[in-house]
Amino acid sequence: MTQDSNQFLNIATPGIANLKPYVPGKPVSDLERELGINDSIKLVSNENPLGCSEKAKAAIQAELSEMARYPDGGGFALRNALAEKHNIDSACITLGNGSNDVLDIIARVFLAPGYESLFSQYAFAVYPISSQAVGATLNMAPASNYGHDLEEMINRVGENTRVVWIANPNNPTGTWLNSDELENFVAAIPKNVIVVVDEAYIEYVAEDEYPDASLWLGKYPNLIVTRTFSKAYGLASLRIGYGLSHPDVADLLNRVRQPFNANSMALAAAEAALEDHAFIQQAVRVNREGMSQLAAGLDAMGPEYIPSVGNFITIDVGQPVEAVDKALLQEGCIARPVANYGMPNHLRVTIGLEDENRRFLSALSKVLNK
Ligand SMILES: *Cc1c(COP(=O)(O)O)cnc(C)c1O
Repeated sequence: MTQDSNQFLNIATPGIANLKPYVPGKPVSDLERELGINDSIKLVSNENPLGCSEKAKAAIQAELSEMARYPDGGGFALRNALAEKHNIDSACITLGNGSNDVLDIIARVFLAPGYESLFSQYAFAVYPISSQAVGATLNMAPASNYGHDLEEMINRVGENTRVVWIANPNNPTGTWLNSDELENFVAAIPKNVIVVVDEAYIEYVAEDEYPDASLWLGKYPNLIVTRTFSKAYGLASLRIGYGLSHPDVADLLNRVRQPFNANSMALAAAEAALEDHAFIQQAVRVNREGMSQLAAGLDAMGPEYIPSVGNFITIDVGQPVEAVDKALLQEGCIARPVANYGMPNHLRVTIGLEDENRRFLSALSKVLNK
């Protein structure tokens, strides 16, 4: 059903009525059945190709007997563990059903019709979606070289601007901002405007000048930093992420948060995963090696790509991406076309294990040289 044929469109809120329905990717099992293959590689959603920590799995096992019980609505144990990790008060933490949930809560608390939401072209799609859902005005700053043009963004802050969103690094471009650039930006934003710095991929970034914006929370009460267990921690299916902010901001976010938005399995697994530093080190190493492998392969093959510091790389396939994506599927490679981001020729591929990367490169080479 298309959006226009919906018979209840005229009674939905304008923000929701104007949203394009989200089209989820086909389940891998369906794709494989259709294509008659059973060993496809899934490099589509920036998940961890290693899976997750064994400690996280054990924590879930231990939690199973309590499945009938509601979770701890306050997420006491995980918040304490996070408070220790970040060396802040647990009153600064807002747990989310994935960090997507936290982003959504931020929009509900600080945005409404008449208020403006400011983000960059090619920035993570949730920022405009969550903003539009609550009827806010969208202000999209043109990107510079696929990255954030911070000067342009500062120029666009007006009296109605309430939330500014930055992903560092950004998905789907993999571009990043260094410490000076980003802190000068945060400092330049008026104190009555919320600045969200989304650090979904922070564990992967090894660049010297890359900032951990959570260290600035004491200086900038209008700053919210979001983190997730979906990427390097490998817990995407559990849906668990969090926001770090001034306690007064967290207080507002927690007023809107559903009391049981983080489930027991997620809370237990996340707490255990935080302890498993060896797993994160391994994930980061595999990603670094995989990134080098893919970059070298692409350099040899020819297509341009956007240099990335995340666990994915976005490739300019030099033609409308749909046909390339379809041909890759025939080869058993599932990647993510990002035409919906206004990048009609780009394909985002998640860094996989060595043999997955090799298979992707050989499939892409075959498809592009047809
Ligand atoms: C994947 C991703 C998230 C995390 O989503 P979850 O809801 O925590 O799974 C947040 N921001 C960006 C930029 C992402 O790419």
